[in-house]
Amino acid sequence: MACHSRPTTIVLSVEKKFYIETFGCQMNAHDSEKVVGTLLAKGYSQVDTPEEAGYVFYNTCSIRDKAEQKVFNRLQSFKRTGKGKIFAVLGCVAQQEGEKIFDRAPHVSLVAGSASYTKLPEMLIQLEAGNKRVTGLSLEATEAFDTPFTRRDNPHRAYLTIIEGCDKSCSYCVVPFTRGPERSRTSASVIDEATKLADSGYTEVQLLGQNVNSYRDPSPAGWDFATLLDRVGAVPGIRRVRFTTSHPRDFVKPIIDAIDANANLCNHVHLPVQSGSSRILEGMRRLYTREQYMERISWMRGARRPIAITTDIIVGFPGETERDFEDTLELLDEVQYDSLFAFKYSARPNTGALKLEDHISEEEKTRRLAVLNERQRAIQIRRNSELIGAVEEVHVEGRHHSLGQWIGRTSQNRTLNFSGHEAEAMIGTYLPVRVTRAGPHSLVGESVL
Ligand code: SF4
Repeated sequence: MACHSRPTTIVLSVEKKFYIETFGCQMNAHDSEKVVGTLLAKGYSQVDTPEEAGYVFYNTCSIRDKAEQKVFNRLQSFKRTGKGKIFAVLGCVAQQEGEKIFDRAPHVSLVAGSASYTKLPEMLIQLEAGNKRVTGLSLEATEAFDTPFTRRDNPHRAYLTIIEGCDKSCSYCVVPFTRGPERSRTSASVIDEATKLADSGYTEVQLLGQNVNSYRDPSPAGWDFATLLDRVGAVPGIRRVRFTTSHPRDFVKPIIDAIDANANLCNHVHLPVQSGSSRILEGMRRLYTREQYMERISWMRGARRPIAITTDIIVGFPGETERDFEDTLELLDEVQYDSLFAFKYSARPNTGALKLEDHISEEEKTRRLAVLNERQRAIQIRRNSELIGAVEEVHVEGRHHSLGQWIGRTSQNRTLNFSGHEAEAMIGTYLPVRVTRAGPHSLVGESVL
């Protein structure tokens, strides 16, 4: 952590109110929950708009150029009107752009990447003391950001970080540069947090990490991911355990065996494939072939409960031919994913793929994305309609007031909105619901209570 201190008087005019906006993935969302908890514990209070705040935090994402631009646009909009406020850029853009952010947006006072969040309390003290430029950009973190002060947004479903950073070097990805090397939490601290969550009423936890499969307990217990998953699922009071994200190379059969053995482990696996062409996978440095990926799919298809499989795909990676793209479309037909997130390749700073020729036009990437999404849409319509008539257990997450329906989620991570049962305090409970209708992205049903 570096402090570019220009001695000033303590800024008493800035009220201890903060606003935080989060961009990007679940890891970022959960980091923000920890940042919020840390700030609240230090006597700050959270407000809903930047206008009300003395401190404005942006927890940023740099996975695509668009997400990065959004943050600079936000900052730009306060260039004139933000006087008296303290602006902080956290997360991946902070790590990637570093002190350059002070040049682009001179009204920013704190730039800190996620690997430095353990130092957040010290950085806050420096801001409090009136330092105008504080940075936390070291990637040499040895610990995960494990704080007792997490302030969770959802009262029933909790994120729980088990591993941070990434030691892979996929050629399109900024994460190893923005989140630092892998650091696993001890199994004891994970189980302790899961137990505390259960004691305070949470019934669903989602284990988080850039690559949860490479979890290695740093304590003498030495648990691997499958063991950790199984033990979290055995914590009394926990009814559902999810995990994201998995890397196919490190996805091993014991994970499926654990899901088979413990009904509390949700029957859903998100296994990003990125491309159906082994040639492109090699260019992406994904460390597996299509055949090795399909072996993992066959383990899932052989499980006792039907496991929903979802994925991420990048279209238009440098050098992707029409044949490679066809391979990806054929992979969709073969796997029959329950859902997927598809993106156009976007060149990112520092990444290996920058050296490859990006000869695919934006127009062609857009076409491929549309073709792929259309193919997947048809698959989802078919797969979802196969569930009509089935009874699924849902975790009730909220209420669609305009539709007069409850919002539920199945173990397979499908949204199943339903009606037919009205009771107080439904949210957070588990109910059996019969599926009556199916669309490409969600199901509709009736409670069978
Ligand atoms: S596994 Fe690859 S895509 Fe995932 S975070 Fe690491 S480098 Fe990025």
